[in-house]
Amino acid sequence: MQFFVMAKTVLKSLFRKPATVKYPFGPKMLSEFARGSISIDISRCIFCGMCQRKCPTGAIVVTREEKTWNIARLKCITCGYCVEVCPKKCLQMSNQYTEPMLTKHEDLYKNA
Ligand code: SF4
Ligand code: SF4
Repeated sequence: MQFFVMAKTVLKSLFRKPATVKYPFGPKMLSEFARGSISIDISRCIFCGMCQRKCPTGAIVVTREEKTWNIARLKCITCGYCVEVCPKKCLQMSNQYTEPMLTKHEDLYKNA
């Protein structure tokens, strides 16, 4: 009996589309609610440092004097706190997370 159940499943699977995506050869489909990469409209940033203070992992580094905003992407856990607290609403979280591959440590701290 178990054999027929298994055979039925195998036969069904033969004629179905694969349940998996051959990423990166095919497009990655994400839910509209999926959290992803943080990006910034730097022209609106006032370098108040609120996002840095609220970030639980210390991924964001803001310097008021030099007017820089940097994020260490490998530290980001996509919690979204920085987006919520930004008084200028210049941070955004996209539902895509396809970034160029990083090969140097200093690239972790480049602007979004
Ligand atoms: S909270 Fe917003 S305005 Fe303030 S430093 Fe961060 S990104 Fe810039
Ligand atoms: S999403 Fe969360 S972990 Fe990532 S930079 Fe913003 S506050 Fe930090």
